[in-house]
This record gives sequence, C-alpha cells and structure tokens, in this order.
Amino acid sequence: RAKALGPNNVCFYDPSMDAAVRERNALAMDLRHAVANEQLEVFYQAQHDTVSGDLVGFEALLRWNHPVRGSISPAEFIPIAERSGLIVEIGAWVLQHACMEAARWQQPYGIAVNVAVQQLSDPHFPLKVAMVLEKTGLSPHRLELEITESGLIEEQERALIIIRQLKDLGVKIAMDDYGTGYSSLSTLMSFPFDKIKIDRSFVDRVSHDRLAAAIVRSTVILAHSLNIPVLAEGVETAEHVDFLRREGCEQMQGFFFGKPVPHSGIDGLVNPVEEYADVDALPHVA
Ligand code: C2E
Ligand code: MG
Ligand code: MG
Ligand code: MG
Repeated sequence: RAKALGPNNVCFYDPSMDAAVRERNALAMDLRHAVANEQLEVFYQAQHDTVSGDLVGFEALLRWNHPVRGSISPAEFIPIAERSGLIVEIGAWVLQHACMEAARWQQPYGIAVNVAVQQLSDPHFPLKVAMVLEKTGLSPHRLELEITESGLIEEQERALIIIRQLKDLGVKIAMDDYGTGYSSLSTLMSFPFDKIKIDRSFVDRVSHDRLAAAIVRSTVILAHSLNIPVLAEGVETAEHVDFLRREGCEQMQGFFFGKPVPHSGIDGLVNPVEEYADVDALPHVA
C-alpha cells in the first residue's frame, strides 16, 4: 500500500490503527454467528402524534448481545455488517422478527424497520418483503421502511424502481436522518416518500441554535409543500416538544417519550396475542 502511494509518500506504521482493524475483524467474525446463535434482539421505540400525544407506532432497533462483550451498539456493528455484506441476512432477520411481533399486537400500531443500502439494491427485496408480509399476516400499510439518503445516491433509477414496487405492496417509505446527507433537498424531491424523519442532530439544538431551528422549520415547510408528514427524532425535552408542535411537525420520537426497549417493555401497550407464528418456521429469505 505504501508503495502504491509513490516514493514521496511515507506510510507510518500506526499500531493503534492496527488494533482497531483487528477489533473490527474479530467483531465481523462474531457477527457471522450472531443470527444463528440468537444473539440479536429487536428493541422498540415509541413514535407519538404531536398534536394528540397518542402513540402511533414503533421503530424497530437492533441490539446485539455479544456473549463476551455484552450489548454492542448498532452504531458500532451495523457499519461492520454493511461492509461485510452480512447486513443482508441480518436485515432480513430484523424485518421478519419485527413484522412477526407487530402482527401479534392487538392494537394496529405502525412498525418502522431500518433498511440498509445493500438490501435496497437487491432486485428481489420487494419480493422478500411481500413474503414476510404474507407469512406473518402483517397488513402492509402498517409497515414502514426507513431508508437513509446514502442508500439512494448511487443508482437512483434502480432504487426508484424498487421503492415503487415496495409502495405497490402498500408498504410506506420514510427518509431517515434527513439533513445529514449531501443533497437532501434533491433526494426529497426525487423519491415518493411517505414520511421525512428529521435527524436528531438538528432537533437536539433547536432550543439554543438558531440555524438548527431554521433548518427544522424550513424542512417542515418544504415537506408539507410536497404533502409529506414529518417526524422529529431525538426529542428529549419539553422545549423540543413545544418547538416541534409550534412548527407543525406531525410526529415525534425520542427519550422524552421513551428509550428503545425489548418487546417485553411494550407488551402493556400493544397487548400481544398469545399464539403466533414461530419465526424459525419462516422461509429463509436472506
Ligand atoms: P436511526 O435509525 O436514526 O435510529 C435512531 C437512533 O437514535 C437509535 O439509536 C435510537 O436509540 C437513538 N435515539 C432515539 N431517541 C433518542 C434521543 O432522544 N436521544 C438520543 N441521544 N438518541 C436517541 P440506535 O438504536 O443506537 O441505532 C443507531 C443506528 O443504527 C440507527 O439510527 C440505524 O441507522 C442503525 N440501525 C439500528 N437498527 C438497525 C437495523 O435493524 N438495520 C439497519 N440497517 N440499521 C439499523
Ligand atoms: Mg431509523
Ligand atoms: Mg434516524
Ligand atoms: Mg441515525
């Protein structure tokens, strides 16, 4: 590698970087067994209507219970899963699991599932989603797939075809982490989103940062002019709630309403029926 840089470039040996690489490789190896060894778990975070305060749905957020390291954050292992391609199998597992659990709820709340770029670029993805819906019996309109802008920049046309097929199933599409991408505005206008999720890095600052407040305000106006409802992520304080209510943001999600919790933590809210399909009996769609 140092050679490829040419004679004028010096490549320093960095032992800490070496350790980081080893660490990532070790995690990638462990992650390979995480699905089979039942180390993955779906947590659920509530989403509320801004005006009524009513619970409207949940976002499914993956957790990895590593046998030695304990709980590992998705911020750490999702990038590893994406680089290794494992995200396709893991993403399929999350989708199946979340849909299966949501189908048991007696209240028809929405269920939002994050979808990685590799899943979205799979031409069979809409078929896989259709199979999961059929097997679990979940109504398509209750499922929302969250896509980040980075998943849409490359091969826009192909992504658009897949998104249209997903929407034909009756599934909703949300743009996640709005504002953190390179050209959020143009992405917003190029795809038929059903919801925009404003990234929590902006929401976090609305109370004391006029630029962040202006970004949230203008995002809501823009989304509404395109007839798209807006959800604010990372809502932590009553001040955030007041601001977002004033600005006409439709939905909110964040620690103010509750942290992501295991399914047992929402049982009282969703009243799951006892009998449900065994996820292992589902066809392998990864
Ligand atoms: P995301 O989809 O934007 O999810 C929101 C993240 O913000 C979650 O972090 C959630 O726990 C956190 N959060 C929610 N409310 C608050 C708040 O009020 N304050 C703060 N400080 N944080 C809040 P989490 O669960 O660690 O997930 C991180 C990211 O990992 C997700 O961001 C998503 O991009 C990715 N991820 C999680 N599960 C999956 C999955 O099943 N598939 C894929 N492809 N990505 C996933
Ligand atoms: Mg998300
Ligand atoms: Mg987000
Ligand atoms: Mg995020």
